[in-house]
Amino acid sequence: MSSANGLPTTDLPDSPQARQLQAGFPWLTFNPELETEFRRTHFEENVLHTRVNLCLAVVITIAFAIMESVVLGPELNRIPSMIHMLVIVPTLLIGLASSFSPHRDRLYPPLAVVASTVLGLGVASIQIIATLGGMSILFPCMMLTIVFVYFMGGLIFYHAVAANMIVLLLYLAVGSELQLPGHEFAYDSLAMVAANLFCASVVYMHEKTSRMRFLEACLLREMVARDGLTGIQNRRMFDQHIQRAWQQAVREEERVAVLLVDIDCFKDYNDRYGHQAGDECLRAVAVSLSQCARRPMDFVARFGGEEFAVVLYEASREYVAEVLTRIQRSIAELNIPHEASRVASRLTVSIGAAFILPSSNRTHEGLIQLADEALYSAKEQGRNRVVVMEAEYHTLRTGRFEKRRGQRAL
Ligand code: GH3
Ligand code: MG
Ligand code: MG
Repeated sequence: MSSANGLPTTDLPDSPQARQLQAGFPWLTFNPELETEFRRTHFEENVLHTRVNLCLAVVITIAFAIMESVVLGPELNRIPSMIHMLVIVPTLLIGLASSFSPHRDRLYPPLAVVASTVLGLGVASIQIIATLGGMSILFPCMMLTIVFVYFMGGLIFYHAVAANMIVLLLYLAVGSELQLPGHEFAYDSLAMVAANLFCASVVYMHEKTSRMRFLEACLLREMVARDGLTGIQNRRMFDQHIQRAWQQAVREEERVAVLLVDIDCFKDYNDRYGHQAGDECLRAVAVSLSQCARRPMDFVARFGGEEFAVVLYEASREYVAEVLTRIQRSIAELNIPHEASRVASRLTVSIGAAFILPSSNRTHEGLIQLADEALYSAKEQGRNRVVVMEAEYHTLRTGRFEKRRGQRAL
């Protein structure tokens, strides 16, 4: 099974977006958290266009006001011109101004519903006044307003429908109350209902596609960030995260720790139990590690092969020790038999941990290098152990661990 654009809906990472895509959204509504995010994205994607449309609407309103002053004559045009200049133009300008507010993503949408309703009611009033004065030629403006509210004001489907329904119902109520000319009123009303149906149908389909695109974009970002085998963050995300965490730590003068966790004698595990069992084992270790570091800024990724990386921010010595103990305990609790290991009868890991206070003359690569050195040392000392380094890393000899990894394990 696949979504409209070909993204498979089975075998997706477990995420709210995937669940929403699988469940569908015939009512054009997501779960509350996703809905908020979609509306914000939808607004930001359209805001430039919406501003242009609002400017266009102001110019067109003024053009129609001038035209109507000629067509209706000064007496009949007195109230319509006031509606144009004191209601419609200011309403459009307020909408435009709110689209520049720092809180525009929360301010504009509700304001746009009110503004669209006011706009529609203003145009309807002008049309009714003109019709009562014997000039029933302004109806096209009503149609233009319906189209504007559906397509050009940046409203989502339900908001556009709500604003237009209020205008339509009030037009029908006031028109019947004032007994507008029968045939003409019935014809115009039917035309308004039809315009609403056509526009609503197109906007529904358009928004459905936008929502689908939104979910797929979220999912693609998610899939690019995740390791295909274990489902945790991948090396690409580790590289991005450590860089960001490092810069933040330099600014905030916080300690950062990197823990490199390497499964002991994993080649022997594969040789003994098979590659698929090895994959299962990697998944189990990944889940365990994810549960060991769960503070908001903690980060766990597959570093490559049978190595995982944990990044801890604001890493006090006590917190690093606590996470290390948790990791060792959780790997022991997995209790995975490893008869081919030269270390123990169960699966074990070696951990190299480095934590330092970043400064501008140091780099995050140095921190990783230090953790790598610590891991090398843990392997050299017999595996199934933790080595922590927090010394000045610019005195390190580099590349030793890489060289050794090229050779066969000790
Ligand atoms: P050491 O204790 O020194 O770390 O020894 P090791 O055998 O764990 O390390 P070595 O680097 O010699 O071997 C790593 C092994 O990890 C070799 C490779 O087959 C296995 N491996 C890497 N990626 C995967 C994977 O995605 N799935 C499986 N099943 N095995 C993998
Ligand atoms: Mg390794
Ligand atoms: Mg290993």
